[in-house]
Amino acid sequence: MSDPLVLDRVSRTYRSGDQDLHVLQNASLTLHAGEIVALVAPSGTGKSTLLHLAGLLERPDAGVVRVDGLDAGALPDPARTAIRRDRIGFVYQAHHLLAEFTAIENVILPQLIARRPDARRRAEALLTAFGLSHRLNHLPGKLSGGEKQRVAIARALANAPAVLLADEPTGNLDVGTSRIVFDELLRMVREQGVAALIATHNPELAARMDRRVTLQDGAVVEV
Ligand code: ADP
Ligand code: MG
Repeated sequence: MSDPLVLDRVSRTYRSGDQDLHVLQNASLTLHAGEIVALVAPSGTGKSTLLHLAGLLERPDAGVVRVDGLDAGALPDPARTAIRRDRIGFVYQAHHLLAEFTAIENVILPQLIARRPDARRRAEALLTAFGLSHRLNHLPGKLSGGEKQRVAIARALANAPAVLLADEPTGNLDVGTSRIVFDELLRMVREQGVAALIATHNPELAARMDRRVTLQDGAVVEV
């Protein structure tokens, strides 16, 4: 079985004014099946950049990104989109739910796009596992911050991805809610057997994952 995610000597430079900002330089990281890894590093060090490269939202300047054994760099955009849809779940700090659609519709939609059977049943099961069986038909605007983020996590898991990528997924929640939602996230990720890379600057949350890495001068370092 292939590793769910491999970053091999990935580099990314941003041009700002007349300066080159070398955010990632030969960053390498492998996520093994079912492993939950914390990406802990100060703000501005490249966590989001790394997650966007891993999520095939951007391309690196150099290096290889392999998802579920597929070398994404060798593929044109439509094939990358298909990998992103079928094998990657992404959770942002802000929920990014579709405001016009109910909670359950938000979790059904990615499954319809991927033409998966039993979309409604799976959406209901996921939302129920997040304690939201009484919120299925609510619009996001009628949900609390913690509830919205639970729906966003359920949506990211909807297509049974090989990899879940989360960028400070509870960063917008108060401390108490953050802890509870994070517990649920970890429980569901373990239950579904998904490999996860989760950026956080909260050491308490990082301590509960299987392994911790940080970014140092653009490289990934174990801590
Ligand atoms: P983190 O998520 O750890 O806070 P980011 O990956 O968002 O870090 O950003 C790393 C560095 O790259 C920061 O200095 C940021 O300002 C810069 N950066 C990020 N995206 C861009 C961009 N699109 N253009 C120019 N600079 C960027
Ligand atoms: Mg960030």
